[in-house]
Order: sequence, then structure tokens, then C-alpha cells
Amino acid sequence: MLKIAFLGGLGDFGKNLTVYDQDGDLLVVDAGSQFPESDFPGIDLVIPDFAYVAERAQRLRGIVLTHGHEDHVGAVGFLLKACPAPLCGTALTLGLAGRKMRELGAEPPAVHLLEPEKPLRLGPFTVEGIPVTHSVPEAVSILLGTPEGTVLHTGDFKFDQAPLDGRLTHYHRFQEAGRQGVMAMLIDSTNVEVEGVVGSEVRVRNTLERTSRASRARSSWPSSPPTSCGSRRSWTSATFWARRWPSSAAP
Ligand SMILES: [Zn+2]
Repeated sequence: MLKIAFLGGLGDFGKNLTVYDQDGDLLVVDAGSQFPESDFPGIDLVIPDFAYVAERAQRLRGIVLTHGHEDHVGAVGFLLKACPAPLCGTALTLGLAGRKMRELGAEPPAVHLLEPEKPLRLGPFTVEGIPVTHSVPEAVSILLGTPEGTVLHTGDFKFDQAPLDGRLTHYHRFQEAGRQGVMAMLIDSTNVEVEGVVGSEVRVRNTLERTSRASRARSSWPSSPPTSCGSRRSWTSATFWARRWPSSAAP
């Protein structure tokens, strides 16, 4: 029997972690963190309670990452220290997760690159990454083959017809998967329940460039610009920082 458990990320913003349990063999999709709210004094980071996985660590067949936002990779190092397992993702996502692991001193895991239409086998599961556009490059949806049937786990996405990196969503692969049969689709993305069309990420770049040009004479980029998940929050953060530069960087 296939069981799906959500150890975070359901009904709130952050610490995404989904466990697929096929007759005791486990596959984890994403391991994210959450920034603490104001009622968490002294807490730097909130991570999922992954005791369910740790108690079954011997049968953890892999950890698959959909994209590199903190709420999807921020707890990878903690999870790997407790439950060593192969790590799968695109090159950028693995690079971002690797930094998290080094910070925590986690042992480097075996890594598998997710490439379009090249499914990987991990125990009873097959894992294929379908490229999707999002507010961070190299995001993928996961087409997960199980003995029970196929599950589509979308991860976060933002359909953008003019992405900054030119890498478009592979709509055709979604169509093929639908024709072949999908048993269940797990879909979750910021504002996904709001109807309508959002602007391209290019608009964010244009706004930042315009703001930067306006304050070029007296500002500099922060050493570590904020990253967050979802177009609305990215906008808020980017705009916040853009507005701070001129005053905070003034001589
Ligand atoms: Zn995201």
C-alpha cells in the first residue's frame, strides 16, 4: 500500500516535507525550513519533525528536491545527518542544498541529477523531474512512479512565458503523463487558489534595475540578498530591499 504523509508545508507557509511510504520503503520530497514568527523568540529556524523518517531511516531510498527555496531545502542538512540517503535534484538546487549541508557538517550524500525525461529508480520508486518555471531557476515537478500508480507532485511553480533563464515549463510532458494516467496529483503553490495571470519575473528584474540606476551613485548591493518562496513574497522582499538601499547606504 502507498501511504503519503506530510510532515510540514500543509496549510502553512514553510518547512515542506512529504513522505511517500510504499510498503515500508520511503521517499522524501523536499525538506524545507521555516523562518520563525515573532512569537518564537530566540529561535533562528523552524524545521519539520521528521521522527517518522528517522525511525525508518534504513529504508529511506532517497530525498528528492523540487527547487532551491529555503522552505524546500532549508532542512536538508538536518535530515541527512539523521537519515543518510541519496539526494536528487537539478544542478542549481543541489548546489544550494549542498551549502546547507556543509554549514551543518553533514556527510556528503550520493547525488543524482534530475534530467528531463530520464527517470531514476530509487527502491520501488521511479523519479522523473519535469522542468517548470518558478521564481527560482531549475525548478521541477516530480513524476513519481510507484507500484500503485503514478503520482504527480508539482512542487511550487509559476507559469512564466518569459522566464529570466529562458527555460520553459515542459507542458508536453504533463500532457503525456496525463494521457498515460496519473493516479493522484499533489499540487501546491503560493496563491494557487487565486484566479488570474501574474506577471513575469522579468518585471522584478526591470524594477530592480530601474531602482538601482536611480540610486547608483550612492548605493551598493547587499552581500546576501534575501530569497524566499512565492512570487508575492519575493516581490515584497525585493521591493523592501530596493527601498532600503538608498537611505541605508548613504554616506
Ligand atoms: Zn518555491
